[in-house]
Amino acid sequence: LPSTASQGSSAEYSFASSGAPSYYRVLVLGASGVGKSALINQFMSSENNTSEDPSGLDGIVSVMLDDEESLIELCNFPDEQYPAEDINVDAYVVVFSITDQTTYKYAAHLLKYLRNDLCSDRSIFVVANKTDLVRKRTVERNEARLTASYYNCKYVETSASLNHHVDNLLVGILSQIRLKLNPDKL
Ligand code: GDP
Repeated sequence: LPSTASQGSSAEYSFASSGAPSYYRVLVLGASGVGKSALINQFMSSENNTSEDPSGLDGIVSVMLDDEESLIELCNFPDEQYPAEDINVDAYVVVFSITDQTTYKYAAHLLKYLRNDLCSDRSIFVVANKTDLVRKRTVERNEARLTASYYNCKYVETSASLNHHVDNLLVGILSQIRLKLNPDKL
């Protein structure tokens, strides 16, 4: 019989055994300076991160949702690069800054690439970051939202600096990943 992972030490988790938390990988993409690292840092310090030693697991958060624990690895993908393949990825987070049209256009290119060229059917979240900089906004919410829905993506506006909507985003990513894997389990 497969052994159940012991609670308490994530180092002892065996992903193959029943009872162990599922493990998902999320790529965080977007132009340089849009706040990818800031978002990942907020995810790590999120109250949803139930990992006992958050600093010990670089880029990995442990999230409890519906009484089930999952480990989510957040990979900060190199700036200005497109991922070459869709394997070992459960979801994408495409970030742009609402203060910078260039980063929005780059995000739109990334979405087109992921859906049309890579033919990915993974969950994709479009994240409009830096909403605290209201007066510097140059990317309209409605336009960005339309782009996201055109590519069948969820759209979220965040401020990594103020930790605004970052927790919802983390939980949203996990629910979408689970929904894709178990569409019947609504
Ligand atoms: P990355 O290159 O995409 O990883 O971007 P960083 O996370 O390094 O952030 C780039 C700069 O934007 C840093 O100076 C951050 O402090 C700042 N930044 C990130 N998120 C926000 C935000 O939500 N609001 C504001 N005002 N600044 C932000």
